[in-house]
Amino acid sequence: MKSAIKSDTDNIKPADARATLHDSFDRDHLWHPYTSTHSPLPTYKVKSASGAVITLADGRELIDGMSSWWCVIHGYSHPVLIEAARKQIETMSHVMFGGLTHDPAIELGKLLLEILPPDMEHIFYADSGSVATEVAMKMAVQAHDNPQKTNFATIRSGYHGDTWNAMSVCDPVTGMHGAFGPALPIRFFAPAPQCKFGDEWDSADFEPMRRIIRENAATLAAVILEPVVQGAGGMRFYHPEYLRELRKECDENNVLLIFDEIATGFGRTGKLFAWEHAGVQPDIMLIGKAITGGFMTFAAVVANRRTADMISDSQSGVMMHGPTFMGNPLACAVALASTRLLLSQPWQKRIAEIEAIMKERLEPARSHPAVKDVRVLGGIGVIELKEDVNLAEFQKRCVEEGVWIRPFGRNAYIMPPYMAITDAQLHKLCDALLKLVCP
Ligand SMILES: *Cc1c(COP(=O)(O)O)cnc(C)c1O
Repeated sequence: MKSAIKSDTDNIKPADARATLHDSFDRDHLWHPYTSTHSPLPTYKVKSASGAVITLADGRELIDGMSSWWCVIHGYSHPVLIEAARKQIETMSHVMFGGLTHDPAIELGKLLLEILPPDMEHIFYADSGSVATEVAMKMAVQAHDNPQKTNFATIRSGYHGDTWNAMSVCDPVTGMHGAFGPALPIRFFAPAPQCKFGDEWDSADFEPMRRIIRENAATLAAVILEPVVQGAGGMRFYHPEYLRELRKECDENNVLLIFDEIATGFGRTGKLFAWEHAGVQPDIMLIGKAITGGFMTFAAVVANRRTADMISDSQSGVMMHGPTFMGNPLACAVALASTRLLLSQPWQKRIAEIEAIMKERLEPARSHPAVKDVRVLGGIGVIELKEDVNLAEFQKRCVEEGVWIRPFGRNAYIMPPYMAITDAQLHKLCDALLKLVCP
């Protein structure tokens, strides 16, 4: 349904519309992710988005290759999600979670426990992925209830969000350690796993992490990492055996294990959640991004009974976190609708088809001199280049090609809205990516 209120861009004739594609107020006053106010990268004004297509203010249509940073799995403006939101808004958009509860939170919780690792029993609804990371790290510290066991280990090339403690466990090079240095707590970093997904397992790969855990068990609360797929920290796919070794080592040393599935959840890697590739469960797991199908911000931290018991048996006796918008009914209702929608469709078959198309279409890049590696897993296709991409130039050419792809560093990657994109759209997206990185 079209809004009754006309936006400014509706009134602008096509000739002027092009001028509003880059908005001067936006450039002069709005911060965008990781940008300078002195020389901000250009932004493109979006009029609307539907299915796998983003429509710009000047009417140009772009095939979406980003799912708006992993989350819009059903495509934009999906009628089922709109209807769920509308119904919930008319009932109650928000009510505090302190002392009150509601069906959207309860029904979503029941559904999540059906699809998450079987040992997960307790759910903490959080506002965003980064907040979920903070909550998970607080859980681990509270669970041990020991002033010595408060530190964390992780692997390089990880990404866990932009808040303080989340930053501290992000990759020290691609993350924000450079900007915040001594302000960040010092964590233990094992090298990123070298053994790739699909390669033969090499047990030497786990040894650095084993050493870190054994030598620092007295001070470690938990190991936190993204299972199998490392997203924004490097777009890497590693061998699931690493996680099986890690689970054993954590158990033997009384260290909790946190899986950050904020990017990998809800089918992105070809499994509903990436832990399934390894078959070992964490103590605490984070989900976010695609949880509402990209409709709004929302996340959850889930824990097994052992972890919840440890927290409840600690001196404070309670989980010390409680945001204003905890369990927001609107977000819960949309998350419930999005997850039901996903499960009602042959998602696994569709993601396998998308994986096959990307494998075939991106493979020719491998032999290009500018390309270091090509890798595809589930709904993620990566062309790793030898040099950093010139982002402003790349995006300008993307828009000219009618696609939306936003690389970071040397990784030009696509992760399309897998439940919305058609084969023809995906072909066009892959061909455009190839053309842009392999001129
Ligand atoms: C995006 C992301 C986060 C942070 O989530 P936000 O909602 O952006 O705060 C944390 N961990 C992983 C693996 C992510 O991909």
